[in-house]
Amino acid sequence: MAIRTAAQYLEGLRDGREVYYRGERVEDVTTHAELGIAARHAAIDFELAEDPAHRDLALQRDPDGSEYSAYYRVPRGPDDLRARSRLIETATAEGGTLVILIKEIGTDALFALMRVLARSGETEGLERLQAFYRHCRDGDLSLAVAQTDVKGDRSKRPSEQDDPDLYLRVVEERPDGIVVRGAKAHTSCAPNVDEIIVLPSRSMGAGDEPWSVSFAVPVNTPGLRLYAADFLHGTDDEFVYPVSSRHKMIETLTVFDDVFVPSERVFFSGKPQIAGAVALTFVEFHRFTAVSYKLPLLDAFVGCGIAMAAANGISRAGHVREKLTWLAGYAETVRGLIQLAAQRGQLEEGIAYPDVFTTNLAKWTFARDFHVALEFLQDLAGGLLVTGPSGQDWEAAQVRPVLEKYLRGAWPARDRLAMLNLIGDLTTRAYGGYQAVLAIHAEGSLEAEKLAMYRSYPAGEALGYARRLAGLGEADDR
Ligand SMILES: Cc1cc2nc3c(=O)[nH]c(=O)nc-3n(C[C@H](O)[C@H](O)[C@H](O)COP(=O)(O)OP(=O)(O)OC[C@H]3O[C@@H](n4cnc5c(N)ncnc54)[C@H](O)[C@@H]3O)c2cc1C
Repeated sequence: MAIRTAAQYLEGLRDGREVYYRGERVEDVTTHAELGIAARHAAIDFELAEDPAHRDLALQRDPDGSEYSAYYRVPRGPDDLRARSRLIETATAEGGTLVILIKEIGTDALFALMRVLARSGETEGLERLQAFYRHCRDGDLSLAVAQTDVKGDRSKRPSEQDDPDLYLRVVEERPDGIVVRGAKAHTSCAPNVDEIIVLPSRSMGAGDEPWSVSFAVPVNTPGLRLYAADFLHGTDDEFVYPVSSRHKMIETLTVFDDVFVPSERVFFSGKPQIAGAVALTFVEFHRFTAVSYKLPLLDAFVGCGIAMAAANGISRAGHVREKLTWLAGYAETVRGLIQLAAQRGQLEEGIAYPDVFTTNLAKWTFARDFHVALEFLQDLAGGLLVTGPSGQDWEAAQVRPVLEKYLRGAWPARDRLAMLNLIGDLTTRAYGGYQAVLAIHAEGSLEAEKLAMYRSYPAGEALGYARRLAGLGEADDR
């Protein structure tokens, strides 16, 4: 077992992987002008484990003396869930409000697969998964999860689509493995991880056997092609983009062009009855991860709101205090709910998982009110969020005195513009738009969270109480 350094992690990404960005093949993702920023952002995970201030949180030491990344610690109770949440929150804060995600999402998938395969008595699949888990943990590997299929016509099942490749499927079975074809969308961090875990994205039924498959492959596997999104392209002006000039996460369209997967890397195949359970169990873990990594952004919103009110000289106004109180209440409600989800954690097959209802309530609360938070923060900041000067203006000798004279508020122009640019980066420009869509869609849409809440709420207890208050008997089917 060896904890890797950031340099070793980056070196491991130079392996001939097939990545495309803005129409061109990328030779080396670590030295590429924009993808390299994402790789160095991801390396924060390894720097954290080397940092004496964070080592205890970032590393797990087992009684037998072995040491590995704490992301790989299988949660055994609420304390482990709380520690995992704190680790994700701390790493994201180090990442300037952007999640690192090169071990968080992958271990969410591993824990979900462990639970479902154990529960279903899939001994062979579980043994393969455990071997893969040890391979990743002991090699201190980074992981992406490709779950979301491109999906085609959303009203149709995989087997009903005009093109059967719109959900990833098995196209050939061989004695020593399977061949898969299809594409997954929005795969975070894929260009800068070692392995990609593939999960089904929905429940499956009879006839959906070829699409009911889960496996893992190294990113440089022949036939695996990554087409990277350029959403954070052009954010290199550090004056205007204080966060996104230094921190990026890259999503890909992840295409499997008849990729061979050896049997020992296949966790299950041709099993519709397991596919849906894995899809659902993964999001139980992943929404907990999601809310944990939202917290630094919400804390930044509160801090920016307080600072901006001071910079503009409006701190004493009633409507300002109301908005600042709302922002603080929003951040702390989300934080409190995720702590409660850990505290209410339950155990299955020896693995602790966060309470489903509370986790989804936390995620829904976060996503539902996110755009209200943006409105309040933008309201406090003013229109300079989009009409302010560039870094070149600030550096120009003939322009800066004008900016210093006219763009000051209760704070000098330099400090006021720094705060405005931080809020602009977080809420209005490319990274702000990215976060706004991330809030609504990533880890499942608002409707998916409400559905999970509806299904997991113990309605019988509330109904029974209401019936007793009304003087009625035990609940019936009406
Ligand atoms: C920044 C970012 C990072 C992401 N990272 C990852 C990742 O690492 N791995 C991964 O696997 N996924 C990832 N995702 C994918 C994310 O989980 C999906 O975006 C989300 O599940 C929504 O899927 P979609 O984007 O295809 O939208 P759609 O599913 O098309 O949703 C659009 C709308 O259609 C509705 N809808 C969809 N299907 C139906 C239906 N059958 N009936 C009624 N309404 C329907 C939805 O509720 C929503 O309102 C990421 C997404 C983002 C934005």
